[in-house]
Amino acid sequence: MTSDASSERVVRIALLFSIVFGACLIGIFSRPVGLLAAFWPANAIVVGVFARYRKLGHPLEWIAVAAGFVAADLVTGSTISAALLLNAANLLGIVAGVVMLRDMSPQEFRLRRPNSVIKLAAAACVPALITSTCGALASNVLFGHALIASFAQWLSAEMTSYVAILPFIATFPHRWRRALRQHNSDRTSVRRLAAPTLTFGLCCLFGVVVGGPGAVFFPLPALLWFAISLPLFTNTIVLLLYLVLANVAIASGLVDMRVDLADARNIVSLRFALTLLILGPLAVSSISSSRLVLMRQLQKALATDSLTGALSRPEFLRRAGSVAAQARCAVLVLDVDRFKLINDTYGHAAGDAALRSFADAVRRALRDGDHFGRMGGEEFALILPNTRTREAFLFAERLREAISFMTVEMREVRAFGITVSIGLSSTEPGGNSLSDALQKADRLLYSAKKGGRNRVMSELVPA
Ligand code: GH3
Ligand code: MG
Ligand code: MG
Repeated sequence: MTSDASSERVVRIALLFSIVFGACLIGIFSRPVGLLAAFWPANAIVVGVFARYRKLGHPLEWIAVAAGFVAADLVTGSTISAALLLNAANLLGIVAGVVMLRDMSPQEFRLRRPNSVIKLAAAACVPALITSTCGALASNVLFGHALIASFAQWLSAEMTSYVAILPFIATFPHRWRRALRQHNSDRTSVRRLAAPTLTFGLCCLFGVVVGGPGAVFFPLPALLWFAISLPLFTNTIVLLLYLVLANVAIASGLVDMRVDLADARNIVSLRFALTLLILGPLAVSSISSSRLVLMRQLQKALATDSLTGALSRPEFLRRAGSVAAQARCAVLVLDVDRFKLINDTYGHAAGDAALRSFADAVRRALRDGDHFGRMGGEEFALILPNTRTREAFLFAERLREAISFMTVEMREVRAFGITVSIGLSSTEPGGNSLSDALQKADRLLYSAKKGGRNRVMSELVPA
């Protein structure tokens, strides 16, 4: 192992120890705030981090995690036997959780698939059940706690932290600095947030005024609104905050639950209600973001030709139409000469390679603002805004010549060359329409073919 790699590992070990130690202290100090507020984030954080960063898993890294758990208990006054037994319960669950989540595909884990949230929640049940079972047994042996009651307490706390924390870690942006800059420069995000935030505030107020056990569900419409209008990662933060807010509001008495919070069964029921409640908006947000990704992919696929990377015919016509409405444009129709013969001589794959090389050569010649589309088969079109016919003719000549000097090289067949014929016309804003110009360029292309191919024909003989 190089010294760079080993110092990287030392940093990882130190980081893991500190994160686990810190998360355990948060868990330990949240206990006296009130039963409901008890929050144990450490297990979910470790499972999330190990599931996301798959190169983690060296025995020393696991030892750092275990040491973080035990150290936090020991410095806060636990006995050694309690620290070892209770943390064995945590670690057994964590190992199972990492195995379960690493089994999901990265796309599923990042909540990019429609069924991701259900899968993630189902996978989280396994570590939660293992930790709760072992934890309840350990609490029974150590402190004489009733098995079932203790199991229910552990399970509800575990599920809450998994459901709240795993989505946050799973969707944390890769390039978070860039994501933050983008978010800050996006002025619409403030406007988009205003209405659901106001609704959220009103729903919470309604919950405080009405009270009762149903009050925790009142903000659901606002959470669903956030889910469909904000990015997935932002939603994981909103839901995490809601969970903390709801816990604090209930534990402090701000929302009068009108149930006996001294009865641990009611606490367990409330914790489950809150956890299951946030699954809904989370699933909606995950589905709407996976739909958005799919739509973008689909739009890109529709806008470009997969073989050559040129614009598709409809996309070219759309873009060309909008530039032609604003400026005088040169319009070129290009057709590869005797392409059928190339296919027949060298094979279809060589024909495809020729089309790709042809498109690369055209792209190299383009300026910003020019558009290049595949109109069908081996026929392409170009629109050059603010270009006079003479300028465009010289451009087309240079391009024709460059293509005639180009060779297409493939492993299976000997290198061969191609030529292109070009018809050139123009549009005037408010005058010649794009479709007229394309028709004219097509007719000129036809005469270029008739004239012997490998030539440019223009509507005006250039001076
Ligand atoms: P001309 O000089 O008059 O244009 O002759 P040509 O042979 O180029 O024209 P023709 O229209 O007779 O043949 C075009 C050929 O292009 C026929 C078709 O099979 C082939 N072709 C169309 N699209 C593709 C493609 O994506 N890949 C390959 N390899 N061939 C294609
Ligand atoms: Mg042709
Ligand atoms: Mg053709």
